[in-house]
Amino acid sequence: MPSASSLPVIGEPGKPVARKDRAVALQAIRNEIGDCRRCALSAGRHTIVFGDGDPNARLMFVGEGPGADEDAQGLPFVGRAGQLLNNMINAMGLRRDQVYIANIVKCRPPQNRVPEPQEANTCAPFLFRQIDVIQPEVIVALGATAATYLLGGKSPLNALRGRTHQARGAKLIVTYHPAYLLRDPRQKKEAWADLQLAMAELGLGKSQ
Ligand code: URA
Repeated sequence: MPSASSLPVIGEPGKPVARKDRAVALQAIRNEIGDCRRCALSAGRHTIVFGDGDPNARLMFVGEGPGADEDAQGLPFVGRAGQLLNNMINAMGLRRDQVYIANIVKCRPPQNRVPEPQEANTCAPFLFRQIDVIQPEVIVALGATAATYLLGGKSPLNALRGRTHQARGAKLIVTYHPAYLLRDPRQKKEAWADLQLAMAELGLGKSQ
């Protein structure tokens, strides 16, 4: 039996979780969420979409909430917007399994509507704890909902793009949601500029 001092410290306030303990610490958060009924979104969901990726990721992406495909599969960004996000990740020179992907809310809002503040404020603390466990260097907020709850206040997306913010100890970069880019592909160039900012913060893409 391991001694108490050898047990992993899981999410102790103010104390970083060691790299080797992060997967277990994330699972502990998932266990605490359980079969969540904390807000009204639970009534319409099939699957809680917790988050997916490397527990030691340097880069994290945060979206708004699961859509129909995500609700069916229990994984974030697996539909059309997810395909575009995968392409964006690959364009940065990374694989999807090297980053971590999650959402502000873990249950699908009806008709994919924007989560209500009460829903987002109920769910986001679990995301914040995931961020605290993973300790990413850079978070990319995908769209206004992610930016609002990660920054703790509402501003127009374009007022937030193009510079680096701070959120939970990470550098936060704001860009368009991939679903918006599918509707208006002309903005992809702007989104790529945002991703290049994230790459610069991570020291990626420099010529060798
Ligand atoms: N849109 C989101 O914001 N999140 C997903 O997981 C899928 C689509």
